[in-house]
Amino acid sequence: MALRSALRNTQKAILAEKAERALKRYPFEDISPNLVVKINPRAKRMALRLDPKKRIINLVLPKRGVSSRDAYLFALEHKYWIREKIAELPELITFINGAKISILGEDVTIDVTFDENLKKTDIQLKNNVLSVATNKEDPSSRIKRFIINLAKERLSALAHQKAAMIDKKIALVEVKDTTSRWGSCSYDAKLCFSWRLIFAPIEAFDYVVGHEVAHLKHMDHSPAFWHQCEDLCSNYSRGKTWMKRHSGELIRYA
Ligand SMILES: [Zn+2]
Repeated sequence: MALRSALRNTQKAILAEKAERALKRYPFEDISPNLVVKINPRAKRMALRLDPKKRIINLVLPKRGVSSRDAYLFALEHKYWIREKIAELPELITFINGAKISILGEDVTIDVTFDENLKKTDIQLKNNVLSVATNKEDPSSRIKRFIINLAKERLSALAHQKAAMIDKKIALVEVKDTTSRWGSCSYDAKLCFSWRLIFAPIEAFDYVVGHEVAHLKHMDHSPAFWHQCEDLCSNYSRGKTWMKRHSGELIRYA
């Protein structure tokens, strides 16, 4: 097992080096600074893939049969597509003074007061203002932590409340920074959510929680599951539709 993983790591390093060499030989950088060349042993052909979270385009190459020149010409051919995709990404929102964020559908403004004499950072959310009194030059990581805790608190409270409606018990509610799955439910009744759901409108937030809680009863996506899910949600169709159309926007919070 250890040998196999060591081999895999060596192979990974070789492929990364090969990609690196290709990058040096041709001006990929001129096509777009957001273009990253990657060799994937499982890839059958060249492909361009947008990674919206990292804000890059991966040029994925198969292990064999494609030269650096082929790769470069392929990327060059799609130059405008690459630039357009990056330009279309929603603007990043950082947790700084004056930033406007959305908390469960409410517009909230971050208001930072700096005072070097303060002993610690104090954060409060009241009347659509996130007031931050701090002795830190850059309190953004503290603000992020506050929002993650808030998300965990709200997700956990709502999940327990919904589980009680169907006589189920939750073992644990966790929050992570997942972006491909907004929520999950395991066989041992552990629920996991993306903390970024706090930036979604309340119906969408409610829908994702209702969906995972419904899985406590039905571990599938059968008609019985969807019926239970609908029952558990305050506005099932609006929440589900919002997630389908807009959940990609949740990653723009840095
Ligand atoms: Zn599901």
